Amino acid sequence: NSPDLISVYSHAADRIYQRRYHLLEDFATALESPDQLRLVYQPRIDLMSGKCLGAEALLRWEHPVLGNIPPDDFIPMTERSSRASALTAYVLGAAIRQMRDWQEAGLLLTISVNISASNLAETDFVDTLAAAVRHHEIPFERLELEVTESAIMHNPAYALAQLQKLSDLGVRVAIDDFGTGHSSLAYLRKLPADVVKIDKSFVTHIGKSAQDQALVRSMVKLSQELGYRVVAEGVESAQIAMLLREMGCEEAQGYYFARPLEAVQFLGWLHAPETG
Ligand code: C2E
Ligand code: CA
Ligand code: CA
Ligand code: CA
Repeated sequence: NSPDLISVYSHAADRIYQRRYHLLEDFATALESPDQLRLVYQPRIDLMSGKCLGAEALLRWEHPVLGNIPPDDFIPMTERSSRASALTAYVLGAAIRQMRDWQEAGLLLTISVNISASNLAETDFVDTLAAAVRHHEIPFERLELEVTESAIMHNPAYALAQLQKLSDLGVRVAIDDFGTGHSSLAYLRKLPADVVKIDKSFVTHIGKSAQDQALVRSMVKLSQELGYRVVAEGVESAQIAMLLREMGCEEAQGYYFARPLEAVQFLGWLHAPETG
């Protein structure tokens, strides 16, 4: 009965394809009237002082029928589509308006925004971003862009030139998911980046695995020797936070400190007695 099996598989593949296709179309609609979209903000903590210096903006999509769709189910496919620039335009616009609101309330926080390989390939990306930042009178220094190694390696020469322009404006650049790509160290050294974010897959087990602990320790050391500030992602316990602090890791982000929060909740969290 192998033919049956094949037809079952191809039918399933068909449905996956159709589901993705509809999701992409639905997301394109959401981008045009973004009341289904919002940003949440995950605090980033200075491990020495325990203070929150900023937050990573993360996109949330409330589908009218399917409800909350996880970012991993719609962002990667959107990033490979013609909607990649609209996605980032939405996120940057919303993040910059939020920064202005916080700035007016006297809060000087850095916001980090995730960008993709295709954003870096857009010829007008830097100019559009600069115009939005200037329009809302936000200091460039308070905006950080998170770029993965693989996004950079997509077209290294052009990405490097774009990152250099951003860096010249004063925008901070972070290398996201560090350790998961396969960029050479020689290349990393040339990048006009300020921050390295160690991927959570390495951070998660440092409490139990001596090998992971050695790996993260050397990533921290290496990044610092190359002049980067180091942020650990996915910190889920006090033990992990303490180990990272002992390693000299500067900042951390993770469920142990806070989950990604709605803007209003974020303010509440910031002003709670045990944080801020
Ligand atoms: P990322 O950039 O690596 O973002 C960090 C992800 O880890 C977020 O998932 C966050 O909620 C999650 N996280 C934070 N702390 C912990 C922790 O302690 N433990 C665990 N297990 N997870 C933690 P989220 O929001 O589901 O986003 C997933 C990915 O989707 C992001 O990974 C990023 O690649 C992408 N993404 C999210 N928002 C945007 C966006 O606005 N633009 C773009 N281009 N990509 C985005
Ligand atoms: Ca990120
Ligand atoms: Ca990451
Ligand atoms: Ca990721």
